[in-house]
Amino acid sequence: MSQASSVAPPRAFQDELNPFLSMAKGFDTAAEHLGLDEGFREVLRRPDRELTVAIPITMDDRTLRVFTGYRVQHNFTRGPCKGGIRYAPDVNLDEVRALAAWMTWKCAVVDIPFGGAKGGVICDPRQLSQGELERITRRYTASIMDILGPDRDVPAPDVNTNEQTMAWIMDTYSMHVRRTTTAVVTGKPLSIGGSRGRTEATGRGVMLICREALKKIGLRPEKTRVVVQGSGNVGGIGAMLLHREGYKVISLSDMYGAIVNPDGLDVPAVLAHLKKTKKLEGFPGAKALANDGAQLELDCDVLVPAAVENQITSKNADRIRAKLIVEGANGPTTFAASEMLDKRGVVVVPDILANAGGVTVSYFEWVQDRMGYFWTEERVNSSLEQIMVKSFHDVDQVAQKYKVSLRIAAYILAIDRVAATYRLRGLFA
Ligand code: NAD
Repeated sequence: MSQASSVAPPRAFQDELNPFLSMAKGFDTAAEHLGLDEGFREVLRRPDRELTVAIPITMDDRTLRVFTGYRVQHNFTRGPCKGGIRYAPDVNLDEVRALAAWMTWKCAVVDIPFGGAKGGVICDPRQLSQGELERITRRYTASIMDILGPDRDVPAPDVNTNEQTMAWIMDTYSMHVRRTTTAVVTGKPLSIGGSRGRTEATGRGVMLICREALKKIGLRPEKTRVVVQGSGNVGGIGAMLLHREGYKVISLSDMYGAIVNPDGLDVPAVLAHLKKTKKLEGFPGAKALANDGAQLELDCDVLVPAAVENQITSKNADRIRAKLIVEGANGPTTFAASEMLDKRGVVVVPDILANAGGVTVSYFEWVQDRMGYFWTEERVNSSLEQIMVKSFHDVDQVAQKYKVSLRIAAYILAIDRVAATYRLRGLFA
């Protein structure tokens, strides 16, 4: 969390910030609405497989260090597992478990034939050279490769991993199985089996979901003030696409702070400044804000948290002024905060729907790799649009039927789809 405090939070607040408990609350509420029996709840709540590996590496100075890596496969009833790999100092098993479960529900919400997984390595990429990162990636891949594969589990980039990381994973896997296997990962560079439109896919999905949700609220783009937290792959590209559609993006942020202009930012110029200086700070024609949570409380119509988890909590939910929140990040709103926002009539489009554009185009990438035939960008974008728009309306219909928030509706839709597959397949052994 950015709003760090020197005083340890009390137990209840610590639990509120635990992503696995947050996911479990959403799951239990939805399971209750579905009348799911206890046995099914137990099966669907528990990850199918958890692997912890030691990753010994020779550092550039010839010393040896051992890193810890995880791969959690939450559920593969609907197809191979799918989910990103993140590199960060605070990676932990509970977080990886929650993110893996969210992937199961996310793939089911957009109705693509995957289960959910997630991986992570405890490391600080800013302290590592390219060579050290490559060795960590290759050894981690070799250690988990028995459970990877185009028909088993297909990783993708997440926080602090990128196209290059995916290229190393693809190569390591391919060298072991003695054939080039591009479909083992998605989010690869175009030249080795990546998909057109993948880089922008999550931001594009966020833009499409904003459009559909705002139609319900009755706001037109040119009248809509948007605040975006984060300016990376999801936030930066999402803001750019929203700007292009005519929305007034009044604030953007990065890990160092935010910039604000109530008349609307020139987003392409902001992103060019960020590319050049590596910081938003110093962008001319905008006021600077510290990274203390104030950005989230700005007067606006739409808030897109697209940075990290646990940004909107019970401590600041009552001060959020947006009418609509579209979750670009995974887990940016705690379950307790989500309930407070529901009570105040703030519409929250949950992560498992709002940021599903990335995994949807990852699915297209996997399909293209297996076909050996690559689509045009127009085909990728229009197929993505069809899925995002349909999924938003599917979730909205469930919300109306059960009289629940979009978050609970998304869980209901996803759990029902996974449970239906379970019933059809039955249990082996
Ligand atoms: P990124 O690394 O490209 O960008 C992250 C942005 O957040 C950067 O601008 C960074 O400066 C900012 N940031 C980091 N820590 C912050 C903090 N404490 N306070 C404010 N800003 C902070 O990452 P990304 O790929 O854009 O992912 C962002 C979120 O979206 C993550 O939760 C990720 O799991 C989720 N997500 C990403 C994708 C994808 O396709 N990239 C898909 C689905 C979900």
